[in-house]
Amino acid sequence: MKQIISLLSLFVICFSASAQQFVIGGTKDDRTQAMQPGMTEYYYPKVPVVTPGDIKTNSAPSDAIVLFDGKDLSAWIGEDGTEAQWNVNGDGTMTVNTEKPGIKTKESFGDCQLHIEWYVPVGLPGSGQGKGNSGVFLQGRYEVQVLDSYNNETYSNGQAGSIYKQSAPLVNPIRPEGEWNVYDIIYKAPTFKADGTYRTKPQITVLFNGVLVQDNTIIVGTTEYIGLPQVAPHGDAPVSLQNHGNPISFRNIWLRKL
Ligand code: MG
Repeated sequence: MKQIISLLSLFVICFSASAQQFVIGGTKDDRTQAMQPGMTEYYYPKVPVVTPGDIKTNSAPSDAIVLFDGKDLSAWIGEDGTEAQWNVNGDGTMTVNTEKPGIKTKESFGDCQLHIEWYVPVGLPGSGQGKGNSGVFLQGRYEVQVLDSYNNETYSNGQAGSIYKQSAPLVNPIRPEGEWNVYDIIYKAPTFKADGTYRTKPQITVLFNGVLVQDNTIIVGTTEYIGLPQVAPHGDAPVSLQNHGNPISFRNIWLRKL
């Protein structure tokens, strides 16, 4: 029900934005340029806070592709195609190098189950979207937001566990800074019609620290900071991790093709 309300809210926002900003006869680019970031952000309903249980680190099952085992970034390249230059820390973790591009897997994927753990360091300054921001992009296009959402106000559909600017998490089971968070993501890739529109939309389920936060959520298009989600045909594509200027750490990343 909440998912429906969230989607309805987005459509209401989009429709309002359309009515106010869109110029009849304008191109899609004109419409995007006319929009502002706030037009796709909603604050209500608020997301309830849940304290997660004490789950153990979930190491890779035997049929998984290990994307990061703590040793090196051999499965990754930079978003710009150069060598991945994030920091491997020697303790089984890696950290966003805020001076270098985001990273993406060398291999491309479609339907998958993805496990990834992430960590906000203690004392990281900032607030709202500026505190502990990174992101996990399925097929390089659809973002599951990573954010320090522990006592940190921001728009509901932009907090940790959201499908960024589309679907707020059902609840907020985040752990405080200095503790590891876990995403387990089940993702169904879209299929496309000959005209380039979705035949089946991307669909995603997300467990956040073992708690369901996205329940077969239908993704309506690409993640856009400004403007509406876009739809353009694509095939299998890498998983990418965002450099949003914050030193977020990751560990124990594995993926099972579905
Ligand atoms: Mg992000």
